[in-house]
Amino acid sequence: MGKLKPVKSTAETSAFELLRESEERFRAVVDSANEGMLVYDRSLNIVSANRAAERILGLSSGELLGKPGFTSLLPCIRDDGTPLGPEERPTRVTVRAGRPQSGIRVGIRRMQGGASGAVQWLSVNTAFLRRDDQAGHYGLVSTISDVTAQHDAEARLRESEARFRRTFELAGSGMAHINLDRRFLRVNRRLCEILGYPEDELLGLTGRQISHPDDLDIINEQRPRLYSGELDAVRLEKRYVKKDRSIVWVKFTMTVERDFEGNPLYEIAVYDDITAQRDAEERLRESEARFRQTFELAASGISHVKDGRFIRVNKSLCEILGYSEKELLGKTVKEVSHPDDRNVTDAERARIRAGEIEQARFEKRYVRGDDASVVWVDVAIALVRDVFGTPLYEIAVFDDITERKQAEAALREAHEELKRSNAELEQFAYVASHDLQEPLRMVASYTQLLGRRYDAKFDADGREFMSYIVDGATRMKQLIEDLLAYSRVGTKGQDFRPVAVEAALRKALFNLRVSIEEAGAVVTYDPLPTVAGDEAQVVQLLQNLIGNALKFRSASVPRIHVGVSEMNSEYQIEVRDNGIGIEPQYYERIFMVFQRLHNKGEYPGTGIGLAICKKVVERHGGRIWVESRPGEGSSFYFTLRRG
Ligand code: ADP
Repeated sequence: MGKLKPVKSTAETSAFELLRESEERFRAVVDSANEGMLVYDRSLNIVSANRAAERILGLSSGELLGKPGFTSLLPCIRDDGTPLGPEERPTRVTVRAGRPQSGIRVGIRRMQGGASGAVQWLSVNTAFLRRDDQAGHYGLVSTISDVTAQHDAEARLRESEARFRRTFELAGSGMAHINLDRRFLRVNRRLCEILGYPEDELLGLTGRQISHPDDLDIINEQRPRLYSGELDAVRLEKRYVKKDRSIVWVKFTMTVERDFEGNPLYEIAVYDDITAQRDAEERLRESEARFRQTFELAASGISHVKDGRFIRVNKSLCEILGYSEKELLGKTVKEVSHPDDRNVTDAERARIRAGEIEQARFEKRYVRGDDASVVWVDVAIALVRDVFGTPLYEIAVFDDITERKQAEAALREAHEELKRSNAELEQFAYVASHDLQEPLRMVASYTQLLGRRYDAKFDADGREFMSYIVDGATRMKQLIEDLLAYSRVGTKGQDFRPVAVEAALRKALFNLRVSIEEAGAVVTYDPLPTVAGDEAQVVQLLQNLIGNALKFRSASVPRIHVGVSEMNSEYQIEVRDNGIGIEPQYYERIFMVFQRLHNKGEYPGTGIGLAICKKVVERHGGRIWVESRPGEGSSFYFTLRRG
């Protein structure tokens, strides 16, 4: 330490000696101190430095003396890492503040091989040198200690605190520190979201206060074991009631933080919202239960089939196939199938596996296990795949259609039988009417001959009887011809070809031209389509209907219109007149053979025309019916397929 210059020189040697002694003692104390010590004069230049200061700063007294503080000699930084300016030197700060300062942090950036290296941290205290009886000062003294180790530890602590805060706040899980009185001490944002409370409301609440009534004590049941150290953590799932009263399911994990003596300080709890997962599980359980119920209660037989074997079957299937559940499980589907139907599903099932089709339906036979009888089954098959599309098992739904199959077979038989007997009847009518013509012709011609040759020999009665015979024979001839025409519809029909209805209509009108003219009738028609049919019969159909419209006309000018409307795969054709009309109770009867509503004196005819129409339409796969207003007119409708 440099010599302290006496502020004032004194003439008194003894006083000077005393002073010297005191200074020596003071220097010895100062030099032996661990803390660095610098003394500044009034202009804040260093006037004295002790050894510790030299050691701490790595500068000699020679380098220090006369300088405005060590901060002018070394690159110094502030607490926050920025360079320390001249105004921030501890001495200046002290003078500006006008009072001693303590704990000013100054960092010295030590250079290592040209690069800036580690920072040495100093803690600086300052004090004024003043005389008690005077205002102002005549310098400063500062003490310096190296606090690098402490500073670094503090920085690390601060950093780890910040890291923890960040983790706490950013955590995807809800987190809380819970006081030993169970109140939330610190909560993160996520926890506020999960529990549905703002932070300020959550702090101060206990977990119990917001627990679901059914889950109140499940944490308390485990807490003693956590505190005793038997458990390292409490792990459970429980419900909380959110502020909006909705329920949240939480996966809860809790540990306890202890001091160095092992006394509990606070609890650390982590909360994960598993409501969605719980709901999904619940829905899954419900759907499983529903499925089980449906499976068991279904009237249809249901099975799951893997590798061709039944792996699950319901009661209905056991009943349909005549096996017990135990017998059926493990059996292959082919084993219980009818030998002729064993492979009918193979091709379609392969297509389902290939993903070409979703499902397939079959009608096939099985052989019952109990009485070996054959059972007809409608079976629908689909494939269940896992999320990756790998086939898991087939679902097959079975419906017993034995009765329906039997009914169908019976119906088919009856139908065949009916067709046969109809054909026979038709054949009979045809043959009979054809063969009856010959003897009838004989009766007619000989009656005429009789009339011509023996007319003179007959008396009035004889002539009258003769006229009855001729009349009867003529009518019979007409009836037989009609019957023949009727039976020809079925037996002499042509194959179906496209028929232009309009051309057929024109032919019919041509055939009817005399009657049309006589009646002075007006016939109109819409553009008419092409249908699939037998042209001659379509002509006959239209001719009969228009012929009737002319025949059963009223007093006014006959107006006849042929219209058409389109329905799905067929056309509906209408023949409308303004004739005498028909009472509804006769709508059916008029289509029957030889059924007429008038005697032949009123209107000629045999009652076969509409019967032929009906037969023609039905042979074409259509329907015929009438709608009418008696006195106003009739509409005959029939349907024909598209050509
Ligand atoms: P027919 O004309 O020989 O009497 P149909 O079988 O053609 O025989 O007709 C049966 C009966 O239906 C007819 O006698 C008539 O009473 C009634 N009928 C048919 N067409 C018409 C019509 N356009 N208007 C009123 N009545 C009709």
